[in-house]
Amino acid sequence: MMMKKPEKKNSQFTINLVAIDGDGAFPCPKCGLQISPDDESESNYRIIDTKVVNDELSELIISCGKCGSTIRITGFQAGFDA
Ligand SMILES: [Zn+2]
Repeated sequence: MMMKKPEKKNSQFTINLVAIDGDGAFPCPKCGLQISPDDESESNYRIIDTKVVNDELSELIISCGKCGSTIRITGFQAGFDA
């Protein structure tokens, strides 16, 4: 497990998936790189941390693969009934 906290020098943004139309993909708030949480290849981002509540993914904290911004993704609970 990684215990290190993300470096503070990078910008941090929060994305709420509830506010996003479509398949949950969104552009990086800083550089505009298209990021899809469903893309398990992690080609465009790197997962830093995940937060699970009641066996449901609650938060995903990722790092943009292009600009390195830290992006916190919330809102998984709503609208994703596989
Ligand atoms: Zn970016």
